Amino acid sequence: MTKFQDLGLAPALVKTVAAEGYEQPTPIQAKAIPVVLQGRDLIGLAQTGTGKTAAFALPILHRLCADRRPLRRRACRVLVLSPTRELATQIGDSFATYGAGLGLSQTVVFGGVKHAPQMRAMAPGVDILVACPGRLLDHVAEQTIDLSAVEIFVLDEADQMLDLGFFPAIKKVVRALPRVRQNLFFSATMAKEIRDLAGELVKDPAEVAVAPAATTAEKVVQQVLFVEQPRKRALLAELFADPGFTRTLVFARTKHGADRLARYLESAGVEAAAIHGDKSQGQRERALAAFKAGELRALVATDIAARGIDVDKVSHVVNFDLPNVPEAYVHRIGRTARAGAGGHAVSLVCDEERNLLKDIQKLTRQTIPSFDRRNDKDLARQQAVDAAVLRHQGKTGAEADVEAGRGPRPDKPAGGRPKHRRRPGAKANAGGKPGGAPGAGKGPKPPPKSDAGASKPKRRPQRRPNAAKD
Ligand code: AMP
Repeated sequence: MTKFQDLGLAPALVKTVAAEGYEQPTPIQAKAIPVVLQGRDLIGLAQTGTGKTAAFALPILHRLCADRRPLRRRACRVLVLSPTRELATQIGDSFATYGAGLGLSQTVVFGGVKHAPQMRAMAPGVDILVACPGRLLDHVAEQTIDLSAVEIFVLDEADQMLDLGFFPAIKKVVRALPRVRQNLFFSATMAKEIRDLAGELVKDPAEVAVAPAATTAEKVVQQVLFVEQPRKRALLAELFADPGFTRTLVFARTKHGADRLARYLESAGVEAAAIHGDKSQGQRERALAAFKAGELRALVATDIAARGIDVDKVSHVVNFDLPNVPEAYVHRIGRTARAGAGGHAVSLVCDEERNLLKDIQKLTRQTIPSFDRRNDKDLARQQAVDAAVLRHQGKTGAEADVEAGRGPRPDKPAGGRPKHRRRPGAKANAGGKPGGAPGAGKGPKPPPKSDAGASKPKRRPQRRPNAAKD
């Protein structure tokens, strides 16, 4: 079995990973680290959760230490491009952890926050810059960041970059880089466009691939619950009656959907927050910190916001909506099976989503055990209660229907939290139906919460295009 000592890393780095509790390299680390140490280009097929950050961060730190150079003003020696702010922050944190005591400088740059502190951080030059493409290009245009001294260029999560429409921005960034450099290219999938981009970037690369989608999915205990779309919320609340749902990531397709669900869960006594691209950086960080600290049982996220979130001990992933692309399903459920641990994933699937489910099962080469919760009287009753509560709050019939999950919601701010406390879930598995919601009915109902902090209507912050993605 490969050990960190065998990979050629400096003793200080081997010590650091031991202090982090890493007993042995993950497969991507065992394969990629020696290649990167040699200075070769690399294409790494691996997703978040496989240890890929350390797979590039450790050998990069090694190479920087082995060849220390004075920094040029506003320049960096290593550029890591990340699709999202959360992932950029995490990559920055990983470099800080693994590089502690090595005397290297670093900073992280992304949109949605002020430019000035980023300019100040970059002014003397840094060894390592982790950046999201949009804001990085702003700085390049303003000549507050100079990319002409980059020795190592890392493109992380290329497939996510493609989904977010960042390829033109990446190509612009690449034009600002020197011709001679080492390129490390990571993606969880390799669609044609991604391979084409890789082809433009890397020279004579070593290719390493780990954990194809199906392998990761196998570590997670998965379940599909068929349910009518309007009753999904009642079913979600019912799931949370199980105290085993300690730290649950709930995926919603839209930002509004995520906000609505978080409010609904809160009103059902489940501590919840939403995280998505329309939230300010501060709001996102606070929600993530509260989730990590165990203060929130539920974090409702969109795919983009959740991508790359590295939170340990996520007990469950709930797909409130199935993703449109099957690969996203694998990314989502991978949040609950970090670094070898197992986890649970529950998907609420309505009739319109059956084709999406088929695609997911094809990709992961499995049939996910499913249970039929359609025509469930308890859920129907709960749905009626939800709609009545909303009407009581003064919503029009149409609005109440929409809020209760009966259709698309008009694009206007939320009116506030329901005053009425609904019970979090109907009696689970009523009538002894096989496979009700996992664990439902086992646990106590979450305690009612005070209404004191009923939310004010939210104003959407003004953003430049792309800022949300950054
Ligand atoms: P990543 O794929 O980079 O997002 O890493 C996923 C998680 O695995 C992070 O929480 C890392 O701290 C952890 N990790 C990385 N390498 C190892 C290792 N060799 N052994 C145990 N955990 C690791």
